[in-house]
Amino acid sequence: MNLLYSRIARLKPHQRPAVDVLCFLILMGVALLAGCKKNRDQIRAGKVVGGSMAPSFLGQHLFFECRGCHSTVSTDLEQSNQREHLICPFCGTLTERNSCAKRPADAVEIAIGSPIERWDVVAFQVPGLDESGIKRVVGLPGEKIEIRDGNIFADGRLLQKPIAAQRQMRILIHDSARTDLESPRWFPVNPDQSFEFNQEGSFQFGDLADEEGGIGWVEYRHQRCYSRRTDRVPESDLVPIEDVYGYNQSIARDLNPVSDLIIELEVVPASKRQVCWLISHRFGEFVFTVDFDKRRLRVSNSGRPETIVEMDESSLALPVMRIECSCFDHQFLVLVNGKTVSQFPIEQPRQERADTEIRSTRLQVGSRGSLTINRIRIWRDLHYLAADGMPGSTQLFNTTTDGYVLLGDNIPISVDSRHWETATVSGQQIIGRILQKTE
Ligand SMILES: [Zn+2]
Repeated sequence: MNLLYSRIARLKPHQRPAVDVLCFLILMGVALLAGCKKNRDQIRAGKVVGGSMAPSFLGQHLFFECRGCHSTVSTDLEQSNQREHLICPFCGTLTERNSCAKRPADAVEIAIGSPIERWDVVAFQVPGLDESGIKRVVGLPGEKIEIRDGNIFADGRLLQKPIAAQRQMRILIHDSARTDLESPRWFPVNPDQSFEFNQEGSFQFGDLADEEGGIGWVEYRHQRCYSRRTDRVPESDLVPIEDVYGYNQSIARDLNPVSDLIIELEVVPASKRQVCWLISHRFGEFVFTVDFDKRRLRVSNSGRPETIVEMDESSLALPVMRIECSCFDHQFLVLVNGKTVSQFPIEQPRQERADTEIRSTRLQVGSRGSLTINRIRIWRDLHYLAADGMPGSTQLFNTTTDGYVLLGDNIPISVDSRHWETATVSGQQIIGRILQKTE
């Protein structure tokens, strides 16, 4: 079995050069790795070491079910050892470290010699070290790759992840079915709106007594609960969703607001009803409306003319409609029951909005008429950082004709192309594509 290092830097970003040396010495000391030969179409087993691919692939870690919100939480073993209590990233409740279960590292299957595409997770020989690693392919041979504004650009073009890659990489920030009832996240916008949130995480919208048949909206209010429970902000304040990794626990660094989100609604369709959601950020305000009777999705963008998308019958065939709306990588994607219904780029306005919402994304869900939504979940995209980890820093890689840029999903702690002396990894050094977890 191969041990795949998803290496971890334990110190703050500005101390990182020292970390590289430290990791190197430790790894030389333990000399854990047996080399592997490349054979076409073979499947090999591997084991993940370290947390740089979290939350997709985990090394040994601690695990607990939060008392506050009943979320299941995994945290890095090594970093968690520095704390007496572990913080739930969803509600801020503290759990004693000694009461957490130790979980083994993820086991994976590696397809040796399988073709490699962008966003694949691969096992590879780490440049300059006698060890193998596990990272995600971000840049392909011959490309000019840039890390800027939390995104990845190839030859000057912002890379837009397909939905499958988005689902693999996204990080959960809210699940209505796992909620701390002492700290609600959803609030009616209109005081006349009758709205009930029940313990299982479902939403019951009442009829809005509005002659114009208006929409009853509820708004998501994020909480900065991950550092200390007392850091809660007043419910009236809209705080930005930030690039926090609950997995890392003790890392101290500057956080960045993230406006690339996926919101998923599990809606019970009802005749003469409409479900709506609103996403408002620095690139505009977008309102989506699904009319169940007309089988239509309407999209309006900051007051521009509406776009109407006809939906096929199968979208409404199931008793519960799963709507996913993503605004990752300057692109909107709307999927209904897993099928793409609408896809369009988010154009950057000439003049960005200068109000306070620049840092905070506003998320609202509403209904026209009484309606049940069984569950709402919100995820964020990764926010890529340059090697120094500082907000606003950029980094450029010029790949060779046989060089891949590899980055870990756990951006703040991963040691990857951003830090290696030979930034890229050659095709020869790639052992294979990670197929799946096997445990
Ligand atoms: Zn919790």
